[in-house]
Amino acid sequence: MRHKPQESPTVLRAARVGVGTGLCIAFASALLAAPANAQRLFGGAAFDTSAVTRLIVLGSGTPVPDPERAGPAYAVTHGRRVFLFDAGAGVMRRVAAAKLPIDGFTAVFLTHLHSDHTLGLPDVIHTTWVMGRSTPLRVLGPRGTAAMVDHIQAAWAEDIEIRTEGTERGRRGGHRVSVREIGAGVVYDSAGIRITAIPVTHGSWPVALGFRIDAPDRSIVLGGDAAPSPALEAAARDVDVLVHEVYASTRVAPEKRPGGELWPQYLREFHTSDEELGAIAARAQPKTLVLSHVLRMGGTMDEVVAGIRRGGFRGTVVVAKDLDRY
Ligand SMILES: [Zn+2]
Ligand SMILES: [Zn+2]
Repeated sequence: MRHKPQESPTVLRAARVGVGTGLCIAFASALLAAPANAQRLFGGAAFDTSAVTRLIVLGSGTPVPDPERAGPAYAVTHGRRVFLFDAGAGVMRRVAAAKLPIDGFTAVFLTHLHSDHTLGLPDVIHTTWVMGRSTPLRVLGPRGTAAMVDHIQAAWAEDIEIRTEGTERGRRGGHRVSVREIGAGVVYDSAGIRITAIPVTHGSWPVALGFRIDAPDRSIVLGGDAAPSPALEAAARDVDVLVHEVYASTRVAPEKRPGGELWPQYLREFHTSDEELGAIAARAQPKTLVLSHVLRMGGTMDEVVAGIRRGGFRGTVVVAKDLDRY
């Protein structure tokens, strides 16, 4: 339930600065001229700012709270720019572990609003602020992102007030977020980096996206959560790295719970099996196929890779681990 505005003026303030169409429009142009973040680092470690484009797996997990795998999140870095894709549970701990700046990102992109991909969004918003961010966090995501951010701001309104008005002297307004709701198409294009949102099929989600990142030195496609999707396959043609979700085809069976008979149908409509992905990759021919967000369902990673091979892909396949770099 939402707070009533008269109960806390901070809620109103938080909601006003959180989203709003004016900010969205301003954001589109501001993004192109975005200054580098202050880029505070955890422990003062060095951050590689060379012009090499890197993909860093921050979270290779699923909704299962696997201690070895944080929720879905990936960073792409180029020079001083750091782009975050999805914000699963544990994201900021992994950002620190990867020695990336902890006080903000050039922009945050959300593939879709499933909780496993967004549970870390409050962490991203508030932790980057507490660690020094003073400018609005730029968040791009599908329809519904603005409402989600609005609710997060409202949920933490008392925290925001206490941090700024009390002895912590938190940076006033540093918790702000600029949201831009996006669909398919180019969503970022600046100084050699182009990011294109790709529509994918993810069951009953009205909008779910993958992203293709084109840099001077390489191309990367992050598939998000997706059932086999023609646009995603086309975008992945000959890319350097394709990161794709997958489930173990040999383990598909109804689950022993109310509604569990629908599980195979859910998998079919929302996700991609190892054999389907093998066929997709055989056609698209990515130089490296990275399996992440793997629904093993009791199977092994070797079983999943065997499914990829049955599907027909003979190229390089690796299973992502948190903090891997590609
Ligand atoms: Zn997911
Ligand atoms: Zn999902």
